[in-house]
Amino acid sequence: MGRGVVVGGADLAGYADCLSTRDGHLYVEELDTVDLAARFGTPLFVLSESQLRGNVRRFRAAFAAQWEGPVDVMPAFKANTTLASRRILTDEGAGADVYSPGELEGVLSTPVDRARVSVNGGGKSREYLAHCVHEGVRITVEDVDEIELVQAVAAEQGRTAKIRLRVKPTVPNLWRPTDFSQLTIPIDLAIQVYKSGIPPEFLVAMGRRAIASPNIDLVGLHVHQGRHHASLWFWEGLMSKFGKLAGELIAAWDGWQPQEIDIGGGWPSPRDPLNEETPRSEFVLTALGFPFLAGLRGLGASVYHRALNRLVPVLSSHRFRAPPPTIEEYAAVAVRTLRRELQAARVSTDGVRLQIEPGRSMYGDAGIHLARVKTIKKQTRPFPYSWVLTDTTTFFLAGGHFERSRFRHVVANKADWPGAMTADLVGHSCFADQIVLGARLPEVAPGDLIALLDTGAYQESSASNFNALARPATVLVCGDQADVVRRAETVEDVYSRDTVPLRLLGSPESRGDTGDD
Ligand SMILES: *Cc1c(COP(=O)(O)O)cnc(C)c1O
Repeated sequence: MGRGVVVGGADLAGYADCLSTRDGHLYVEELDTVDLAARFGTPLFVLSESQLRGNVRRFRAAFAAQWEGPVDVMPAFKANTTLASRRILTDEGAGADVYSPGELEGVLSTPVDRARVSVNGGGKSREYLAHCVHEGVRITVEDVDEIELVQAVAAEQGRTAKIRLRVKPTVPNLWRPTDFSQLTIPIDLAIQVYKSGIPPEFLVAMGRRAIASPNIDLVGLHVHQGRHHASLWFWEGLMSKFGKLAGELIAAWDGWQPQEIDIGGGWPSPRDPLNEETPRSEFVLTALGFPFLAGLRGLGASVYHRALNRLVPVLSSHRFRAPPPTIEEYAAVAVRTLRRELQAARVSTDGVRLQIEPGRSMYGDAGIHLARVKTIKKQTRPFPYSWVLTDTTTFFLAGGHFERSRFRHVVANKADWPGAMTADLVGHSCFADQIVLGARLPEVAPGDLIALLDTGAYQESSASNFNALARPATVLVCGDQADVVRRAETVEDVYSRDTVPLRLLGSPESRGDTGDD
Protein backbone atom coordinates (compact mmCIF):
# COMPACT_ATOMS: atom_id res chain seq x y z
CA MET A 1 0.00 0.00 0.00
CA GLY A 2 1.44 3.37 -1.02
CA ARG A 3 1.40 5.31 2.20
CA GLY A 4 2.85 8.72 2.88
CA VAL A 5 2.69 11.64 5.23
CA VAL A 6 0.70 14.61 4.01
CA VAL A 7 2.21 17.86 5.07
CA GLY A 8 1.27 19.92 2.03
CA GLY A 9 4.85 20.65 1.11
CA ALA A 10 6.14 21.58 4.57
CA ASP A 11 9.13 19.80 6.01
CA LEU A 12 7.93 18.93 9.49
CA ALA A 13 10.32 16.27 10.69
CA GLY A 14 9.05 14.13 13.55
CA TYR A 15 5.58 15.66 13.52
CA ALA A 16 2.78 13.26 14.51
CA ASP A 17 0.03 14.02 12.03
CA CYS A 18 -3.47 12.54 11.89
CA LEU A 19 -3.29 12.85 8.10
CA SER A 20 -1.69 10.40 5.70
CA THR A 21 -2.05 9.41 2.08
CA ARG A 22 -2.77 5.82 1.18
CA ASP A 23 -3.06 4.64 -2.41
CA GLY A 24 -3.60 8.17 -3.59
CA HIS A 25 -6.33 9.00 -1.08
CA LEU A 26 -6.14 11.34 1.90
CA TYR A 27 -6.84 9.66 5.23
CA VAL A 28 -7.78 11.10 8.61
CA GLU A 29 -6.61 8.55 11.15
CA GLU A 30 -7.85 5.21 9.68
CA LEU A 31 -10.58 6.66 7.49
CA ASP A 32 -10.51 7.52 3.82
CA THR A 33 -11.75 11.10 3.32
CA VAL A 34 -13.36 9.98 0.05
CA ASP A 35 -15.58 7.62 2.05
CA LEU A 36 -16.27 10.30 4.67
CA ALA A 37 -17.45 12.70 1.96
CA ALA A 38 -19.66 10.03 0.39
CA ARG A 39 -21.16 9.09 3.75
CA PHE A 40 -21.67 12.52 5.32
CA GLY A 41 -21.85 14.79 2.28
CA THR A 42 -19.91 17.93 1.50
CA PRO A 43 -18.93 20.51 2.52
CA LEU A 44 -17.82 18.90 5.74
CA PHE A 45 -15.61 19.69 8.71
CA VAL A 46 -13.66 16.68 9.97
CA LEU A 47 -11.95 16.60 13.36
CA SER A 48 -9.42 14.05 14.58
CA GLU A 49 -9.83 12.94 18.16
CA SER A 50 -6.33 11.52 18.50
CA GLN A 51 -4.75 14.69 17.11
CA LEU A 52 -6.64 16.75 19.69
CA ARG A 53 -5.68 14.42 22.54
CA GLY A 54 -2.09 14.35 21.33
CA ASN A 55 -1.97 18.14 21.15
CA VAL A 56 -3.14 18.60 24.76
CA ARG A 57 -0.61 16.08 26.01
CA ARG A 58 2.21 17.57 23.99
CA PHE A 59 1.49 21.11 25.23
CA ARG A 60 1.34 19.96 28.83
CA ALA A 61 4.54 17.93 28.55
CA ALA A 62 6.41 20.74 26.78
CA PHE A 63 5.67 23.29 29.52
CA ALA A 64 5.91 20.82 32.41
CA ALA A 65 9.44 19.98 31.25
CA GLN A 66 10.41 23.64 31.75
CA TRP A 67 8.34 24.86 34.71
CA GLU A 68 8.91 23.73 38.29
CA GLY A 69 5.27 24.00 39.42
CA PRO A 70 1.99 22.63 38.03
CA VAL A 71 1.02 23.41 34.42
CA ASP A 72 -2.59 23.93 33.28
CA VAL A 73 -3.57 23.71 29.62
CA MET A 74 -6.67 25.87 29.12
CA PRO A 75 -7.55 25.86 25.40
CA ALA A 76 -9.48 28.80 23.95
CA PHE A 77 -13.01 27.44 23.47
CA LYS A 78 -13.85 30.05 20.83
CA ALA A 79 -11.51 28.31 18.38
CA ASN A 80 -13.86 25.33 18.22
CA THR A 81 -17.15 25.26 20.08
CA THR A 82 -18.21 21.71 19.25
CA LEU A 83 -19.21 20.11 22.54
CA ALA A 84 -17.68 16.78 21.57
CA SER A 85 -14.22 18.30 21.13
CA ARG A 86 -14.68 20.13 24.43
CA ARG A 87 -15.62 16.82 26.06
CA ILE A 88 -12.36 15.32 24.80
CA LEU A 89 -10.35 18.22 26.25
CA THR A 90 -12.14 17.94 29.59
CA ASP A 91 -11.45 14.22 29.55
CA GLU A 92 -7.76 15.07 29.05
CA GLY A 93 -7.86 17.25 32.17
CA ALA A 94 -7.74 20.55 30.29
CA GLY A 95 -9.28 23.75 31.60
CA ALA A 96 -10.62 26.43 29.29
CA ASP A 97 -10.46 30.06 28.27
CA VAL A 98 -13.93 31.43 27.58
CA TYR A 99 -15.05 34.82 26.40
CA SER A 100 -18.84 34.90 26.47
CA PRO A 101 -21.75 33.58 28.52
CA GLY A 102 -22.58 31.17 25.71
CA GLU A 103 -19.05 29.80 25.71
CA LEU A 104 -19.13 29.41 29.48
CA GLU A 105 -22.34 27.41 29.19
CA GLY A 106 -20.76 25.15 26.57
CA VAL A 107 -17.64 24.50 28.63
CA LEU A 108 -19.61 23.92 31.84
CA SER A 109 -21.80 21.35 30.07
CA THR A 110 -18.76 19.06 30.45
CA PRO A 111 -17.35 17.99 33.85
CA VAL A 112 -14.48 20.50 33.67
CA ASP A 113 -12.50 21.62 36.74
CA ARG A 114 -14.05 25.06 37.38
CA ALA A 115 -10.87 26.37 38.98
CA ARG A 116 -9.20 25.93 35.57
CA VAL A 117 -11.80 27.90 33.61
CA SER A 118 -10.81 31.49 32.92
CA VAL A 119 -13.57 33.91 31.98
CA ASN A 120 -11.97 36.59 29.82
CA GLY A 121 -13.24 39.62 27.99
CA GLY A 122 -14.30 43.19 28.65
CA GLY A 123 -17.77 44.50 29.43
CA LYS A 124 -18.92 41.56 31.55
CA SER A 125 -22.41 42.32 32.85
CA ARG A 126 -23.31 42.22 36.53
CA GLU A 127 -25.55 39.22 35.84
CA TYR A 128 -22.76 37.38 34.06
CA LEU A 129 -20.27 38.13 36.85
CA ALA A 130 -22.79 36.85 39.40
CA HIS A 131 -23.12 33.66 37.38
CA CYS A 132 -19.30 33.29 37.24
CA VAL A 133 -19.01 33.75 41.01
CA HIS A 134 -21.79 31.23 41.56
CA GLU A 135 -20.10 28.68 39.31
CA GLY A 136 -16.71 29.19 40.97
CA VAL A 137 -14.80 29.88 37.75
CA ARG A 138 -11.83 32.23 37.53
CA ILE A 139 -12.73 35.78 36.55
CA THR A 140 -9.99 37.38 34.52
CA VAL A 141 -10.56 41.07 35.09
CA GLU A 142 -10.08 43.36 32.18
CA ASP A 143 -12.11 46.53 32.86
CA VAL A 144 -11.04 49.25 35.29
CA ASP A 145 -14.39 49.20 37.14
CA GLU A 146 -14.74 45.41 37.24
CA ILE A 147 -13.26 44.90 40.73
CA GLU A 148 -16.13 46.83 42.34
CA LEU A 149 -18.74 44.86 40.40
CA VAL A 150 -17.16 41.53 41.33
CA GLN A 151 -16.95 42.57 45.00
CA ALA A 152 -20.62 43.54 44.98
CA VAL A 153 -21.93 40.33 43.40
CA ALA A 154 -19.64 38.13 45.51
CA ALA A 155 -20.78 39.87 48.72
CA GLU A 156 -24.43 39.34 47.72
CA GLN A 157 -23.77 35.62 47.48
CA GLY A 158 -21.57 35.45 50.55
CA ARG A 159 -18.84 33.93 48.40
CA THR A 160 -15.23 34.77 47.60
CA ALA A 161 -14.50 35.39 43.93
CA LYS A 162 -11.13 34.26 42.62
CA ILE A 163 -9.87 36.74 40.10
CA ARG A 164 -6.80 37.52 38.03
CA LEU A 165 -5.83 40.76 36.33
CA ARG A 166 -5.25 40.71 32.59
CA VAL A 167 -2.33 43.07 32.12
CA LYS A 168 -1.10 44.85 29.03
CA PRO A 169 2.63 45.46 29.24
CA THR A 170 4.17 48.08 26.98
CA VAL A 171 6.45 46.29 24.56
CA PRO A 172 8.53 48.79 22.57
CA ASN A 173 11.06 45.98 22.08
CA LEU A 174 8.62 44.18 19.74
CA TRP A 175 9.45 46.30 16.71
CA ARG A 176 8.90 43.78 13.90
CA PRO A 177 5.68 43.87 11.81
CA THR A 178 2.71 41.95 13.19
CA ASP A 179 1.52 38.96 11.16
CA PHE A 180 -2.08 39.92 11.91
CA SER A 181 -2.02 42.62 9.25
CA GLN A 182 -1.13 42.85 5.58
CA LEU A 183 0.12 46.33 6.36
CA THR A 184 3.50 46.85 7.92
CA ILE A 185 2.48 47.69 11.49
CA PRO A 186 4.90 47.12 14.36
CA ILE A 187 3.74 44.58 16.94
CA ASP A 188 3.99 47.02 19.86
CA LEU A 189 1.65 49.46 18.14
CA ALA A 190 -0.83 46.69 17.26
CA ILE A 191 -0.78 45.61 20.92
CA GLN A 192 -1.27 49.19 22.13
CA VAL A 193 -4.37 49.79 20.01
CA TYR A 194 -5.92 46.39 20.80
CA LYS A 195 -8.68 46.87 23.36
CA SER A 196 -7.86 43.97 25.66
CA GLY A 197 -5.70 44.10 28.78
CA ILE A 198 -5.46 46.66 31.57
CA PRO A 199 -2.99 49.48 30.82
CA PRO A 200 -0.17 49.64 33.42
CA GLU A 201 -1.27 53.05 34.78
CA PHE A 202 -4.35 51.44 36.45
CA LEU A 203 -2.79 48.24 37.68
CA VAL A 204 -1.21 49.20 41.00
CA ALA A 205 -4.41 50.78 42.30
CA MET A 206 -6.64 48.00 40.95
CA GLY A 207 -4.51 45.34 42.59
CA ARG A 208 -4.63 47.18 45.92
CA ARG A 209 -8.41 47.47 45.69
CA ALA A 210 -8.71 43.78 44.85
CA ILE A 211 -6.47 42.76 47.76
CA ALA A 212 -8.48 44.97 50.13
CA SER A 213 -11.85 43.64 48.92
CA PRO A 214 -13.29 41.23 51.50
CA ASN A 215 -15.01 39.00 48.93
CA ILE A 216 -12.19 38.89 46.39
CA ASP A 217 -9.14 36.69 46.28
CA LEU A 218 -6.61 37.99 43.75
CA VAL A 219 -4.93 34.75 42.69
CA GLY A 220 -2.92 35.65 39.62
CA LEU A 221 -1.91 37.62 36.58
CA HIS A 222 -2.83 37.03 32.98
CA VAL A 223 -1.47 38.18 29.64
CA HIS A 224 -2.60 37.26 26.13
CA GLN A 225 -1.54 38.97 22.93
CA GLY A 226 -2.18 36.34 20.27
CA ARG A 227 -0.21 35.20 17.31
CA HIS A 228 1.58 38.36 16.22
CA HIS A 229 4.80 36.64 15.28
CA ALA A 230 5.78 32.98 15.06
CA SER A 231 9.33 33.58 16.30
CA LEU A 232 11.00 32.71 19.60
CA TRP A 233 12.11 36.37 19.53
CA PHE A 234 8.49 37.42 20.05
CA TRP A 235 8.06 35.15 23.06
CA GLU A 236 11.29 36.27 24.63
CA GLY A 237 10.31 39.92 24.08
CA LEU A 238 6.77 39.53 25.43
CA MET A 239 7.75 37.44 28.45
CA SER A 240 10.58 39.80 29.40
CA LYS A 241 8.20 42.79 29.54
CA PHE A 242 5.40 40.81 31.17
CA GLY A 243 7.78 39.34 33.76
CA LYS A 244 9.19 42.77 34.54
CA LEU A 245 5.72 44.29 34.91
CA ALA A 246 4.65 41.39 37.12
CA GLY A 247 7.71 41.96 39.33
CA GLU A 248 6.90 45.67 39.68
CA LEU A 249 3.27 44.99 40.55
CA ILE A 250 4.15 42.36 43.11
CA ALA A 251 6.58 44.79 44.75
CA ALA A 252 3.90 47.49 44.80
CA TRP A 253 1.33 45.10 46.34
CA ASP A 254 3.70 44.42 49.24
CA GLY A 255 3.77 40.78 50.11
CA TRP A 256 1.22 39.58 47.57
CA GLN A 257 2.21 36.27 45.99
CA PRO A 258 0.69 34.98 42.74
CA GLN A 259 -0.73 31.47 42.78
CA GLU A 260 -1.11 31.32 39.03
CA ILE A 261 0.39 33.02 36.03
CA ASP A 262 -1.44 32.71 32.74
CA ILE A 263 0.52 33.55 29.59
CA GLY A 264 -2.39 33.10 27.17
CA GLY A 265 -2.11 31.67 23.67
CA GLY A 266 -0.77 32.73 20.30
CA TRP A 267 1.34 29.81 19.14
CA PRO A 268 1.04 28.81 15.50
CA SER A 269 0.04 25.31 14.48
CA PRO A 270 2.75 23.35 12.64
CA ARG A 271 1.53 24.24 9.11
CA ASP A 272 0.57 27.72 10.28
CA PRO A 273 -1.62 29.30 7.56
CA LEU A 274 -1.95 32.76 9.19
CA ASN A 275 -1.74 35.69 6.80
CA GLU A 276 -0.02 33.60 4.13
CA GLU A 277 -2.53 34.34 1.35
CA THR A 278 -1.02 37.60 0.23
CA PRO A 279 2.59 38.13 1.24
CA ARG A 280 3.62 41.69 2.06
CA SER A 281 5.98 41.68 -0.93
CA GLU A 282 2.99 41.13 -3.20
CA PHE A 283 1.20 43.99 -1.53
CA VAL A 284 4.12 46.27 -2.35
CA LEU A 285 4.51 44.83 -5.87
CA THR A 286 0.89 45.44 -6.77
CA ALA A 287 1.05 48.99 -5.38
CA LEU A 288 4.20 49.72 -7.40
CA GLY A 289 2.82 47.94 -10.44
CA PHE A 290 -0.40 49.92 -10.50
CA PRO A 291 0.93 53.12 -12.13
CA PHE A 292 2.97 50.96 -14.52
CA LEU A 293 -0.16 49.08 -15.63
CA ALA A 294 -2.10 52.32 -15.86
CA GLY A 295 0.59 53.67 -18.19
CA LEU A 296 0.67 50.50 -20.29
CA ARG A 297 -3.00 50.89 -21.17
CA GLY A 298 -1.93 53.89 -23.23
CA LEU A 299 0.02 51.54 -25.53
CA GLY A 300 -3.16 49.65 -26.43
CA ALA A 301 -5.04 46.63 -25.14
CA SER A 302 -2.78 44.06 -26.75
CA VAL A 303 0.43 45.29 -25.07
CA TYR A 304 -1.44 45.70 -21.81
CA HIS A 305 -2.83 42.15 -21.92
CA ARG A 306 0.56 40.71 -22.84
CA ALA A 307 1.97 42.41 -19.73
CA LEU A 308 -0.80 40.95 -17.60
CA ASN A 309 -0.04 37.57 -19.09
CA ARG A 310 3.48 37.84 -17.69
CA LEU A 311 2.57 39.42 -14.37
CA VAL A 312 -0.39 37.36 -13.21
CA PRO A 313 1.48 34.02 -12.92
CA VAL A 314 4.27 35.72 -10.97
CA LEU A 315 1.82 37.24 -8.51
CA SER A 316 -0.20 34.06 -8.10
CA SER A 317 2.79 31.79 -7.44
CA HIS A 318 3.31 31.14 -3.77
CA ARG A 319 6.06 30.13 -1.41
CA PHE A 320 5.21 29.30 2.16
CA ARG A 321 7.26 30.63 5.06
CA ALA A 322 9.53 28.18 6.84
CA PRO A 323 7.67 26.10 9.46
CA PRO A 324 7.42 27.77 12.90
CA PRO A 325 9.37 26.57 15.94
CA THR A 326 8.01 23.57 17.83
CA ILE A 327 5.98 23.95 20.99
CA GLU A 328 8.92 22.55 22.97
CA GLU A 329 11.09 25.39 21.68
CA TYR A 330 8.45 27.99 22.53
CA ALA A 331 8.01 26.54 26.00
CA ALA A 332 11.75 26.65 26.67
CA VAL A 333 12.12 30.31 25.66
CA ALA A 334 8.89 31.59 27.24
CA VAL A 335 9.47 29.86 30.57
CA ARG A 336 13.17 30.69 30.78
CA THR A 337 12.51 34.38 30.14
CA LEU A 338 9.57 34.59 32.54
CA ARG A 339 11.48 32.86 35.32
CA ARG A 340 14.51 35.10 34.80
CA GLU A 341 12.42 38.27 35.21
CA LEU A 342 10.50 36.96 38.21
CA GLN A 343 13.69 35.90 39.95
CA ALA A 344 15.28 39.28 39.22
CA ALA A 345 12.29 40.83 41.02
CA ARG A 346 12.68 38.29 43.89
CA VAL A 347 9.29 36.71 43.20
CA SER A 348 9.09 33.09 44.28
CA THR A 349 7.89 30.70 41.56
CA ASP A 350 7.52 27.89 44.11
CA GLY A 351 4.25 26.08 43.55
CA VAL A 352 3.00 28.76 41.14
CA ARG A 353 0.73 27.30 38.44
CA LEU A 354 1.77 28.17 34.92
CA GLN A 355 -1.23 28.38 32.61
CA ILE A 356 -1.46 28.47 28.85
CA GLU A 357 -4.45 29.08 26.56
CA PRO A 358 -3.61 27.72 23.11
CA GLY A 359 -6.36 28.18 20.53
CA ARG A 360 -5.19 27.82 16.92
CA SER A 361 -2.33 25.53 17.89
CA MET A 362 -4.65 23.26 19.89
CA TYR A 363 -7.36 22.69 17.30
CA GLY A 364 -5.90 23.87 13.97
CA ASP A 365 -4.18 20.74 12.73
CA ALA A 366 -6.88 18.50 14.24
CA GLY A 367 -9.33 19.58 11.55
CA ILE A 368 -9.74 19.55 7.79
CA HIS A 369 -12.50 20.88 5.56
CA LEU A 370 -13.77 18.81 2.64
CA ALA A 371 -15.38 20.35 -0.42
CA ARG A 372 -16.37 18.94 -3.78
CA VAL A 373 -15.43 20.43 -7.13
CA LYS A 374 -18.59 21.60 -8.89
CA THR A 375 -17.20 23.09 -12.07
CA ILE A 376 -14.03 24.39 -13.68
CA LYS A 377 -13.59 27.47 -15.82
CA LYS A 378 -10.44 28.09 -17.87
CA GLN A 379 -10.23 31.39 -19.69
CA THR A 380 -7.57 31.88 -22.37
CA ARG A 381 -8.20 35.51 -23.41
CA PRO A 382 -7.29 38.30 -22.78
CA PHE A 383 -4.92 36.28 -20.61
CA PRO A 384 -5.17 32.73 -19.26
CA TYR A 385 -6.84 32.31 -15.89
CA SER A 386 -8.59 29.37 -14.24
CA TRP A 387 -11.09 28.82 -11.44
CA VAL A 388 -12.03 25.63 -9.66
CA LEU A 389 -15.44 26.23 -8.12
CA THR A 390 -16.29 24.16 -5.04
CA ASP A 391 -19.41 23.55 -3.00
CA THR A 392 -18.08 25.44 0.02
CA THR A 393 -17.42 29.12 0.67
CA THR A 394 -15.09 31.46 2.51
CA PHE A 395 -18.13 32.26 4.64
CA PHE A 396 -17.69 28.81 6.20
CA LEU A 397 -13.95 29.56 6.59
CA ALA A 398 -14.48 33.08 7.83
CA GLY A 399 -11.76 33.00 10.50
CA GLY A 400 -9.23 32.22 7.83
CA HIS A 401 -10.66 34.86 5.55
CA PHE A 402 -10.32 37.55 8.26
CA GLU A 403 -6.75 36.48 8.89
CA ARG A 404 -5.80 36.00 5.22
CA SER A 405 -4.95 32.37 5.86
CA ARG A 406 -3.65 30.28 3.01
CA PHE A 407 -4.76 26.75 3.72
CA ARG A 408 -2.65 23.96 2.35
CA HIS A 409 -4.83 21.87 0.08
CA VAL A 410 -4.86 18.32 -1.18
CA VAL A 411 -7.08 16.79 -3.87
CA ALA A 412 -8.18 14.01 -1.55
CA ASN A 413 -8.94 11.45 -4.27
CA LYS A 414 -5.81 12.32 -6.32
CA ALA A 415 -3.35 12.89 -3.49
CA ASP A 416 -0.47 11.31 -5.38
CA TRP A 417 -1.17 13.00 -8.73
CA PRO A 418 1.41 15.49 -9.93
CA GLY A 419 0.58 19.19 -10.19
CA ALA A 420 -0.77 20.00 -13.67
CA MET A 421 -2.69 23.24 -13.41
CA THR A 422 -2.82 26.49 -11.50
CA ALA A 423 -6.24 27.81 -10.58
CA ASP A 424 -8.00 29.82 -7.92
CA LEU A 425 -9.91 27.53 -5.58
CA VAL A 426 -13.14 29.43 -5.11
CA GLY A 427 -16.39 29.01 -3.24
CA HIS A 428 -19.91 29.19 -4.62
CA SER A 429 -21.20 32.33 -2.91
CA CYS A 430 -21.69 35.43 -5.04
CA PHE A 431 -18.62 37.09 -3.49
CA ALA A 432 -15.25 36.64 -5.20
CA ASP A 433 -15.02 33.87 -2.60
CA GLN A 434 -11.33 33.19 -3.11
CA ILE A 435 -10.34 30.30 -0.88
CA VAL A 436 -6.85 29.64 -2.24
CA LEU A 437 -5.43 31.95 -4.91
CA GLY A 438 -3.25 30.34 -7.56
CA ALA A 439 -3.57 26.84 -6.15
CA ARG A 440 -1.27 24.26 -7.69
CA LEU A 441 -3.47 21.27 -8.49
CA PRO A 442 -3.44 18.05 -10.46
CA GLU A 443 -5.84 18.00 -13.43
CA VAL A 444 -9.16 18.19 -11.57
CA ALA A 445 -12.66 17.34 -12.71
CA PRO A 446 -16.14 17.94 -11.29
CA GLY A 447 -16.75 15.57 -8.40
CA ASP A 448 -13.14 15.60 -7.18
CA LEU A 449 -12.71 16.18 -3.48
CA ILE A 450 -10.65 19.07 -2.15
CA ALA A 451 -9.27 18.93 1.41
CA LEU A 452 -8.27 22.19 3.07
CA LEU A 453 -5.87 21.40 5.90
CA ASP A 454 -5.53 23.05 9.31
CA THR A 455 -9.11 24.26 9.49
CA GLY A 456 -9.85 22.90 12.98
CA ALA A 457 -9.55 26.32 14.67
CA TYR A 458 -11.74 29.40 14.10
CA GLN A 459 -13.35 28.25 10.83
CA GLU A 460 -16.47 26.36 11.82
CA SER A 461 -16.85 28.64 14.85
CA SER A 462 -17.02 31.73 12.65
CA ALA A 463 -19.10 30.36 9.76
CA SER A 464 -22.05 32.42 8.57
CA ASN A 465 -25.07 31.96 6.31
CA PHE A 466 -24.38 34.40 3.49
CA ASN A 467 -26.43 33.59 0.36
CA ALA A 468 -28.71 31.55 2.69
CA LEU A 469 -26.14 28.77 2.56
CA ALA A 470 -26.70 26.18 5.28
CA ARG A 471 -23.59 25.58 7.39
CA PRO A 472 -21.86 22.21 7.13
CA ALA A 473 -21.69 19.37 9.63
CA THR A 474 -18.69 18.44 11.74
CA VAL A 475 -17.68 14.80 11.94
CA LEU A 476 -15.37 13.46 14.64
CA VAL A 477 -13.00 10.67 13.62
CA CYS A 478 -11.43 8.31 16.12
CA GLY A 479 -9.46 5.44 14.60
CA ASP A 480 -11.87 3.88 12.10
CA GLN A 481 -14.97 5.40 13.70
CA ALA A 482 -16.75 8.54 12.58
CA ASP A 483 -19.65 10.35 14.24
CA VAL A 484 -21.52 13.53 13.40
CA VAL A 485 -20.87 15.85 16.35
CA ARG A 486 -22.55 18.91 14.89
CA ARG A 487 -25.20 18.27 12.25
CA ALA A 488 -25.41 20.25 9.04
CA GLU A 489 -27.96 23.02 8.96
CA THR A 490 -31.00 22.80 6.73
CA VAL A 491 -32.39 25.70 4.75
CA GLU A 492 -35.23 25.56 7.26
CA ASP A 493 -32.69 26.23 10.03
CA VAL A 494 -31.42 29.23 8.12
CA TYR A 495 -34.89 30.83 8.17
CA SER A 496 -35.91 29.44 11.56
CA ARG A 497 -35.47 32.75 13.41
CA ASP A 498 -37.65 34.68 10.98
CA THR A 499 -41.23 35.74 11.40
CA VAL A 500 -43.28 37.60 8.85
CA PRO A 501 -45.80 39.88 10.62
CA LEU A 502 -49.40 38.77 10.13
CA ARG A 503 -50.31 42.00 8.37
CA LEU A 504 -47.93 41.07 5.57
CA LEU A 505 -49.42 37.62 5.11
CA GLY A 506 -52.98 38.42 4.05
CA SER A 507 -54.31 39.04 0.57
CA PRO A 508 -53.80 42.48 -1.01
CA GLU A 509 -57.49 43.30 -0.14
CA SER A 510 -57.08 42.52 3.54
CA ARG A 511 -54.09 44.86 3.61
CA GLY A 512 -56.37 47.64 2.34
CA ASP A 513 -54.58 47.50 -0.98
CA THR A 514 -57.09 48.11 -3.78
CA GLY A 515 -54.80 46.87 -6.47
CA ASP A 516 -56.17 49.26 -9.13
CA ASP A 517 -53.37 51.43 -10.30
C1 LIG B 1 -8.28 33.89 21.47
C2 LIG B 1 -7.63 33.77 22.78
C3 LIG B 1 -6.67 32.76 23.00
C4 LIG B 1 -6.18 31.84 21.90
O1 LIG B 1 -5.41 32.50 20.95
P1 LIG B 1 -4.65 31.68 19.78
O2 LIG B 1 -3.94 32.72 19.02
O3 LIG B 1 -5.68 31.00 18.97
O4 LIG B 1 -3.75 30.71 20.45
C5 LIG B 1 -6.17 32.65 24.27
N1 LIG B 1 -6.54 33.49 25.27
C6 LIG B 1 -7.44 34.49 25.08
C7 LIG B 1 -7.82 35.37 26.22
C8 LIG B 1 -8.00 34.66 23.83
O5 LIG B 1 -8.86 35.66 23.63
